[in-house]
Amino acid sequence: MSDMPTINVHPLTQNPTEAWSEIQKGQKVFKVNVKPPTKPASDNQVRFVCMSDTHSLVHNIKFNIPDGDVFVHAGDFSKCGHVDEVKEFNRWLGTLPHKHKIVICGNHELSFDPKFVNMFKKRFESSSRHTGTLAGSHTYGDGEDELKEAVNTVNNKQYLSNCIYLEDSLVELYGIKIYGTPWQPEFGNWGFNLKRGSECLQKWDLIPEDTDILITHSPPLGYGDLVCSGVRAGCVELLTTVQQRVKPKYHVFGHIHEGYGVLSDGKIIYINASTCDINYMPNNLPVVFDFTLPPGR
Ligand code: 5GP
Ligand code: MN
Ligand code: MN
Ligand code: MN
Repeated sequence: MSDMPTINVHPLTQNPTEAWSEIQKGQKVFKVNVKPPTKPASDNQVRFVCMSDTHSLVHNIKFNIPDGDVFVHAGDFSKCGHVDEVKEFNRWLGTLPHKHKIVICGNHELSFDPKFVNMFKKRFESSSRHTGTLAGSHTYGDGEDELKEAVNTVNNKQYLSNCIYLEDSLVELYGIKIYGTPWQPEFGNWGFNLKRGSECLQKWDLIPEDTDILITHSPPLGYGDLVCSGVRAGCVELLTTVQQRVKPKYHVFGHIHEGYGVLSDGKIIYINASTCDINYMPNNLPVVFDFTLPPGR
């Protein structure tokens, strides 16, 4: 039995900057100061350590990554989702001390997006037909390495063995419901791109109402979505979904590197955890928060 509102597409959905100048009249945006933790979380708290947009640059990171119960990566862990990048990221995840690690994809993880996977598969099929003409030959064709790579590329999820991978799915840890989704409003021709408006909303409609922590790659409108050029890049319907229907305690994302930081509307905490800055330098500290469990958990 749910009286939850149906979220509709906003008339200004195609122009988030303009939409925000209207929607912000009804919003109070607070800056939240988050400092690296100096002591461990208490017994009734679960510590989350959030990063995003590391873009295969984790070995250039100069800061320490605080320990915690749950490590979260909100996508763009690679430059283009190449199999070697995925394997390297997974190796690095394996070195982190956190008990649980949650990862979603961003637009840079091309090889995880069904649209790009199908493209790779087609390329693979036409190449195998080509090598087929070499049947009987004992030498391997020139395209052999590329073929192997293409085969691996379409199964890249298998290499994320050191984490919980979320893609329009939910995991429950310590009784906390955590939902992750990689989609974002299209910008260029990248992975998990969708048209603003109903295409994006269809994905947000899949987010369960009892989600406590929402992880998306891209920001909602108005919170951590201000691009250097002065325009807003966030999704209007993601904001409406988060504020009016799902109401999670925390919303973790990245994607707009220059939007790094923590904001609140007085109810929900919005965390842009982009590790890389606008120049793709991994300079921004992980964002840590302690989720207080209700009594009895
Ligand atoms: P990435 O390529 O890592 O996904 O995004 C890097 C940068 O591209 C962001 O920090 C932002 O400056 C820009 N960018 C990404 N998506 C958008 C968008 O939808 N609109 C605008 N204006 N800029 C974007
Ligand atoms: Mn990025
Ligand atoms: Mn809820
Ligand atoms: Mn991105």
